[in-house]
Amino acid sequence: MALSRTLVELFGRRALNQARSEDTIAWAVASLEQGFDTPSLRILAGLDLTRPIDSFEVQTFFQKALGELELTEPGLYEAILQYADLIVNDLLDGAMDPKPAVSLLARLWAAADYPVHLAVWSDLEDSLEALECGESYVLYPGLTKENRASVVEREARFHLRSKAFTYPPDFSRNVYCNVCGRFGPPSSERLTMKWLPPRWHAWLFGKPQPARSVCGACGASDLTFAWTYEGRRRFIEALEKTGR
Ligand SMILES: [Zn+2]
Repeated sequence: MALSRTLVELFGRRALNQARSEDTIAWAVASLEQGFDTPSLRILAGLDLTRPIDSFEVQTFFQKALGELELTEPGLYEAILQYADLIVNDLLDGAMDPKPAVSLLARLWAAADYPVHLAVWSDLEDSLEALECGESYVLYPGLTKENRASVVEREARFHLRSKAFTYPPDFSRNVYCNVCGRFGPPSSERLTMKWLPPRWHAWLFGKPQPARSVCGACGASDLTFAWTYEGRRRFIEALEKTGR
């Protein structure tokens, strides 16, 4: 049995610790309507929402119903990824507005213990908020009030394209050098008093030395940060080419 939409949603809410008894009962009702019929589904669907509900009872019959349907609840990570795909599809279909969708995806990123391929939603959430508040610094490169809808849509499409691939855990700390092509962690180049060790600068002037990131191999400063859209796109396209 393929997981129904309401069950993917329910597993996702349970992973976020946000499932209410009403959600479980709604799933039972929807399942009966779809032609699935088990004793525990009937009990759940028959619970009276106008009276106080024993959430322990709901939980018990939910587990029983899963057993009767020969379904297994996915682990937290899997549940969150399936829920994220559902939200992204809703976003692309116009069934969900960009702002609540981005916020929910950002919450899923945190609940899934910060996987790289959901990280962009947190950056976007902060950046959309910053735009709304008229702040001058926006974390997501190039995001404006005018292009925000198309940027969110682009990221949603990229999510679906890249979800089959795994990023290395330290991926976001890396850069692409646009001069020599190296992919790896950047070096830091001090912009003033290069002879002065950073610790001394901080001690003498009470602030860190101005520095910039440069390629760890050739020293060029023309870099693409891996976590940006362009960086992730390059990484995924290389994987797509090798078929890994
Ligand atoms: Zn280089």
